[in-house]
Amino acid sequence: MTEVDIIIIGAGASGLMCAIEAGKRGRKVLVLDHANKAGKKILMSGGGRCNFTNYSIEPDNFISHNPHFCKSALSRYSQWDFLALIGKYQIVFHERDHGQLFCNESARDILNMLLAECAKAGVMVQLSTDIDSIERLDNRFSVKTKQGNFSCQSLVVATGGLSIPKMGATPLGYKIAQQFGINVLPTRAGLVPFTLQPEDKEKFSALSGIAVPCAVSSKRQSFSENVLFTHRGLSGPAILQISSYWQAGEDVVINVLPQLNLEAELKSKRQQKLKNKLKTILEGYLPKRLIASFLPEDLLDASLQDLSDKQIQRVADQFNNWTIKPNGTEGYRTAEVTSGGVDCDAISSKTMESKQVPGLYFIGEVLDVTGWLGGYNFQWAWSSAWCAGQYC
Ligand SMILES: Cc1cc2nc3c(=O)[nH]c(=O)nc-3n(C[C@H](O)[C@H](O)[C@H](O)COP(=O)(O)OP(=O)(O)OC[C@H]3O[C@@H](n4cnc5c(N)ncnc54)[C@H](O)[C@@H]3O)c2cc1C
Repeated sequence: MTEVDIIIIGAGASGLMCAIEAGKRGRKVLVLDHANKAGKKILMSGGGRCNFTNYSIEPDNFISHNPHFCKSALSRYSQWDFLALIGKYQIVFHERDHGQLFCNESARDILNMLLAECAKAGVMVQLSTDIDSIERLDNRFSVKTKQGNFSCQSLVVATGGLSIPKMGATPLGYKIAQQFGINVLPTRAGLVPFTLQPEDKEKFSALSGIAVPCAVSSKRQSFSENVLFTHRGLSGPAILQISSYWQAGEDVVINVLPQLNLEAELKSKRQQKLKNKLKTILEGYLPKRLIASFLPEDLLDASLQDLSDKQIQRVADQFNNWTIKPNGTEGYRTAEVTSGGVDCDAISSKTMESKQVPGLYFIGEVLDVTGWLGGYNFQWAWSSAWCAGQYC
């Protein structure tokens, strides 16, 4: 039996960050992971450039049953603290839309930095280790694995969510919580493309590859970014964002011409006695293929002068108020995050320690905190891990 102060399960973004902070305090830290490489999600993130944080991080950018939970951690270890760390390693980065920060070179820069900091802090990382069981005996945790048995004073669960099972995602973190009587809120795929109802899928299949700037709204939120038509359904940043707020069976309203009140525009053009076909006018704003999928040919070939107020209103609604009922999402196979998870009400927002099981900590995506697209999920991993690292 190998004895250490802290075992962290998961050598991902949050596990490595927590290990660094605890190691710096002189604690003997062992990180265990079943994968053969640390930080696989970091490497694949942001198209290989890792959108590691955002210039603007607010609690409103996170979804949780307890919307106050994230506030303390985000303010104690902020985006500026993470930027100071990457500054020490001279990692060059750039800003994209909405304050999103990406590496100029590669996501590997972030992973190498975390591993270098782990080495400096004397952290041990053991990969390819399959966890068999966890028990709590005499105020210590015993962790049995196929590659040896370990015991520790503090156990940190940093196993992430369920998205991309191919990359090693498992429900172990939720199972550990349940084993110790900690509530786990239902999980579902977040930041994920929508699939369409069969008739919509067929209708819009010709649009695969087209991206349009849109305003996309659900009951609870609205996002203005690109929507991408795919051969399976709808994707692009606006769809991924709204998917985290969407509940099965709900409608989503998409404004494909968010800068234009189409009804007013068409009526004004009709008043100016413009004799163009409806099709010709719409093609001034949107791709031809999209228009052809949205309206019947005879209507598109009609002259604007011949359209009634009611017809114009219906045409405008089609584009300014396109309402769809997604069939579902692509699920964990392609989701960027998992919504739901370990109930934050059971966890201290200051230390990330379980309120009912002393010495047991939960950090990162395994918790019921889901960030928007744009570097928010990594910032949550850094912030929650940093906090736990000060106490575990
Ligand atoms: C394709 C993709 C792109 C993304 N891009 C971004 C981005 O650009 N910006 C952003 O902010 N977020 C992004 N995310 C989300 C981000 O990667 C996660 O929110 C973040 O990695 C969560 O950190 P974590 O430490 O909680 O979990 P993870 O980084 O997922 O780490 C969990 C670790 O636990 C290990 N583990 C799991 N189960 C077990 C088990 N049974 N036994 C032992 N070990 C186990 C895993 O192998 C893994 O190493 C992306 C996600 C995906 C899937």
